[in-house]
Parts: sequence; structure tokens; C-alpha cells
Amino acid sequence: MSASQSGGRRKRTVAVLGATGAVGQSFIRLLVNHPWFELTELAASERSAGKRYADAAKWIGADPMPDQVANMMVEPCDPARVSADIVFSALDAAAAQDAEPAFARAGKMVLTNAKNYRMDPDVPLVIAEVNPDHLGVLGAQRKNRKWTGGIVANGNCAAIVAALPLAPIHQRFGITKLIATTMQAVSGAGYPGVPSLDILGNVIPYIKDEEPKIESEIQKFLGRADSSVVHSADFPVSAHANRVAVEHGHTVCMSIGLATRARADDVQQAIGEWRGAESARQLPSAPERAVVLATEPDQPQPRRQVNTGHGMTVVVGRVRPDPIFDVKLVAMGHNVIRGAAGASVLNAELMVHCGLIGDS
Ligand code: NAP
Repeated sequence: MSASQSGGRRKRTVAVLGATGAVGQSFIRLLVNHPWFELTELAASERSAGKRYADAAKWIGADPMPDQVANMMVEPCDPARVSADIVFSALDAAAAQDAEPAFARAGKMVLTNAKNYRMDPDVPLVIAEVNPDHLGVLGAQRKNRKWTGGIVANGNCAAIVAALPLAPIHQRFGITKLIATTMQAVSGAGYPGVPSLDILGNVIPYIKDEEPKIESEIQKFLGRADSSVVHSADFPVSAHANRVAVEHGHTVCMSIGLATRARADDVQQAIGEWRGAESARQLPSAPERAVVLATEPDQPQPRRQVNTGHGMTVVVGRVRPDPIFDVKLVAMGHNVIRGAAGASVLNAELMVHCGLIGDS
């Protein structure tokens, strides 16, 4: 491991799998100059392996590719070729299926964005501010699977944006049922993603495999962990997932049934007062507030607010009574940062902070 120091803390070496894709590039932006982590390896498919990163990746975004990565060689996704102990995975699901367990078996802590292992009861599906205690099942995961490393999952990008404001509501009033309708940005489909002639001036009312994820992951985030498994919260979710012509930022409109009677003002107050888990608050990637209330009646809007809290804050507006359920509201957050890379980096910081990733 690198001996470089930052503020008295030794930097941990980290690698990114799927480094050439949309989420992989977001990881690079967040890890270059990170105070606790030193980005030492980039890996992708056989198509990219053996090339300079600058030759393998089509850099997306207005910012220049960081010099630090341009000349790095892309490695194959083989644990024998990666020395870092912490591995951020931005692999697509087909590649993640075998690669992520191989890294965990080789002793690496894998923080994944792929869907494959999210719903396994011994895999923590974590939002640092919402359910950090679910990391406690890692010991059972290692024992069950005979791994010396492990897998910690991030949720689906729309499920994360929805779950953050739902956390204080569930904690305070208990959620009994939920309808969530999404308007999801094109960057959620990776690169090159949705063809421009399909999406410009259009809404596509179907995103493959998306609704079942939203209909199960929210309850896992808001569930309860014992020492070996996570038990999902027991309420039904009905999701409608739509792709819209927005670059970044997923918007989720939600109608929420409550166990305890509450007015829209009470729900708004609960969201406004919520600060999330204490353990997540001082971490380098933690925003000042994980959830904020919009100040205008026509917000949240992705174009105006997607970068709130450097893309780590979900903005909530239009909290109002629902004539069929109890309350309804609109949440919006950055799908690639809060919904993917930023959430994984925050989870890794939390694990270092809690001593779950030790010095090596
Ligand atoms: P993407 O742009 O399509 O990138 C996919 C990455 O996987 C590329 O680096 C690609 O490398 C690599 N890859 C593909 N096949 C591989 C193989 N056989 N072996 C090794 N590497 C392989 O996708 P993305 O949007 O970044 O998404 C990455 C993951 O995050 C997916 O599981 C996705 O569901 C999840 N996710 C995405 C978002 C989002 O907002 N985009 C949000 C949450 C979660 P090459 O360039 O070499 O092909």
C-alpha cells in the first residue's frame, strides 16, 4: 500500500473497475485528489485493457480528463492484476457477475454499482446517511461465502434518490405504501446510452429492469439488519420508470401512505430537520445536508439544482396532501454522483471511519 499521508491518515490505494464508462469517469473525478484515497489502478474490458486510459476512454463532460489518469494503463478486470485493497466497481451487470466475487474472494473490498448482488440478504445495500448499521452483516457475508474481502452495494440511482427523503418519513411516521413515478436522465443509461433520435423531444415510458429494482431496493434501505441478514421494510412499492431528455438528474414523484396520521406540514418538517446518521456527517464526501427542501414552488428542477451539495444532495419540493394516499412530494438528485459513484465513495469513507476497512 502507498505510504502517502494526508492529514496524519495514511491514504488507502483504490482501483476502479469499469473505469472507462459513465460511472467509472465519475469515480475518477471524485478520487483524483481525494484526501483519504489514492487512485492507483483502472480496469475495464479486454477491449480497453493494455491501452493508455486516454486512448481507451471517450471522456464525457466539459471538464478535461485529469492528467493523473491519462497515461495510466488500463488493466483487465482480474484480481491478480490489481493490488489496491479497495475496489470501486462501475462494471455493467454481465461483467460484474463473476468479476466482483472474484475480487472479494481475493481479499478486496468491492463497492459496487451493479445490480447483481444488491438484494442478497447478506450483502449490505447502503446509503451512508440512512442505514450505515447494515454494514454489520459483512461478517456473516464473509463467513457464508468464505471470502476475506466483501461486497457492499449501492442502490439503483432512482431508488437512492427516492430513499433519502423517505428515510425521515419512515422513521417518524412509518410508510405503509408508496407509488413512485420517475423521470430519469439519459446519463443513467451509461455511454453512449440512448440514441439521440429516440430521446430528443421525447419521453420513453420504459427502462429495462428498472421498476423491479425501485420496487424492492427502497424497502431494503429502510429495513432492519440483524447480525447476519437484512430484513426489508414491509410495505409495497409501485414504480413507473420513464426516460426523459435530461442530461443529469433523476426526478421522482411519490405518493406515500403513512401508518401514523400526519399533515403535509409535519412531513415537510420531518424532512427539513433530518440530518442522517451521525457517523456519515463528517466524511470528506458528505454534503452539508443529504436532503434539502426546495425554496420555490416550481422546484426541484434538474437543470437548476442537480449539482446541489456537489451532486450529493437530494432536493425535495411540493410536499402536499394526497387525496388518495396521505402525502405526495417530488425528489430530485444527481444520478451519477449521489445515485452511483459519489454514494460509493461516501460508503468507502464510512467504512474507513468505522474501522471496517483496516490499514494494510
Ligand atoms: P457504461 O458507461 O456502459 O460503462 C460500462 C463499463 O463496464 C465500461 O468501463 C466497460 O469497459 C466495462 N465493461 C463492459 N463489459 C465488460 C467486461 N466484459 N469486462 C470488464 N469490463 C467490462 O455504464 P455506466 O452507466 O457507467 O454503469 C456502470 C454500472 O453502474 C452498471 O452496472 C449500471 O447499471 C450502474 N449504475 C449506473 C448509473 C448511472 O447513472 N449511469 C447509476 C447507478 C448504477 P469498456 O469501455 O472496456 O467496454
